[in-house]
Amino acid sequence: MPRDRRVDREVADLTPTAPPDPPDPPADAVRTIDTGTGTSVRPDTAVEGGTVHELSICHAIAGIVLEHAGDRPVRAVNIRVGQLRQIVPGTLVHCWSLVSQDTALDGSRLRVESVPARVRCAGCGHSWTLSAPVMRCGRCGGQDVSVLHGEEFLITSLELGEA
Ligand SMILES: [Zn+2]
Repeated sequence: MPRDRRVDREVADLTPTAPPDPPDPPADAVRTIDTGTGTSVRPDTAVEGGTVHELSICHAIAGIVLEHAGDRPVRAVNIRVGQLRQIVPGTLVHCWSLVSQDTALDGSRLRVESVPARVRCAGCGHSWTLSAPVMRCGRCGGQDVSVLHGEEFLITSLELGEA
């Protein structure tokens, strides 16, 4: 019987090896990360490349997925995105539908799993999950804090049909 083939190791790691210095976001540029599919970014708030950024990411994902899928149809692409990546999952899903349209990936679903930002204080070793991007240790007040999780960008698995 035909069964979907699932490529279930980490397909590709798009996480930058040397994370760029995160610029201090201006207070009015805080973006809400929402895993819901109905998230929309109003055009007047999609500043500094907003949608273009997500479009180029989708093009990169599509290239990697096609490379791994060969001639098998792709049903779904599962990705994992750290919350520090400044990516709006709903926008990414929308851009995926644009990028995949009229290609071999037409009709495939993009599923985004959000990874909470986790950081550690070098001073005392305390680690915690960020609820807001404040890089200061809640225990000792130290600011020499390194990011443990939250900058992930992984294609975690592909769901493929029969060739
Ligand atoms: Zn500390």
